[in-house]
Amino acid sequence: MSCKPFAIGKRLIVILVFSFNLASPMYSSRCNLLLSLTILTAITVRAQVTERFISHATYLSSDKLEGRGPGTSGSILAAEYIQSKFREIGLEIPFESGYFQEFLQSESGVTERNVVGILRALSSTEKSVVFTAHFDAYGIAEEGGAEDIIYNGARDNAIGVAALIELARMYVNSGRQNQNLVFVATAAEEDGLVGSRYYTQHPVFALEEITIVANIDGFNVSGPRDDFFVMPRQGVDFVDDIVAEAGRRGWTYSPPDWIDTMNTNFDTAAFLLLGVPAFTLWTGNSIPEGVHITEPEFGSIHSPEDEINDTWDWSGVEAQLDLYKSITDYFLTDPGIISVQDPELFRKE
Ligand SMILES: [Zn+2]
Repeated sequence: MSCKPFAIGKRLIVILVFSFNLASPMYSSRCNLLLSLTILTAITVRAQVTERFISHATYLSSDKLEGRGPGTSGSILAAEYIQSKFREIGLEIPFESGYFQEFLQSESGVTERNVVGILRALSSTEKSVVFTAHFDAYGIAEEGGAEDIIYNGARDNAIGVAALIELARMYVNSGRQNQNLVFVATAAEEDGLVGSRYYTQHPVFALEEITIVANIDGFNVSGPRDDFFVMPRQGVDFVDDIVAEAGRRGWTYSPPDWIDTMNTNFDTAAFLLLGVPAFTLWTGNSIPEGVHITEPEFGSIHSPEDEINDTWDWSGVEAQLDLYKSITDYFLTDPGIISVQDPELFRKE
């Protein structure tokens, strides 16, 4: 899958930095050269994050993985890919058996696995911040005949898993924190939050010591945005904290009313139902002033149309990664006491 908009954008920025310095009378100054090298390095590092993100999303949503249906070989390939990235990044192995947390799905009788990697706290504690993103999709349609029967699950949720992997890398590069960090790629979310529910029953660090869960389900592939919203905004007391922290980073909070109908729809709900603070975060539709973009085209989720195409704009990916990280940093350093006041709101009828 080619990703023209991003590649062109990156080259343009690099050319602009060089032109600026060549035109400047201060070009020969050592300081200025160092500054431009620093800027270039920062741009290159950031570009690499997006390139890796695209590469994870492209592989996970490729036809080779046949829609990552629970219990299929495509699901195993996805889990193996995530495991290989966790190993490459340097996340620690949480279980004797490795990164896989296997379980039997009682209704369908298939074996599935969450993929879990950890970054232990600086000193021994049970406290943890947990990151989740589901890697399953709907597999292959049973009814044949249609041209495309693979549910690639690109927006839902290959890109969320790509974000989980790159957030893990950002935290490993930042070093150990005062709480444990747990990265969980959950299985069988579309079957009823099965993998996340299993994790709540078998957490690596005590469930009641989880500070907050940052779930990722979908991600910004629409280009630059400066507004966001979260689920839930009801039954919990920490939305104001998230809004304030995001606000300090220049983000505007613009929650759509329909979000209140989604309280039971994401892995977040598996934790909230048990009184564990958890949120999922999305960017909105507001484009920063002066920025002009072409709106990308998206196929419907939960259909074979949910595939990557050339109109997707990846240039807002890193800003949303930074937003997730600044919010979880906030809860790592200044958690205060936050709670779920109405867990029953998150029980599926
Ligand atoms: Zn999803």
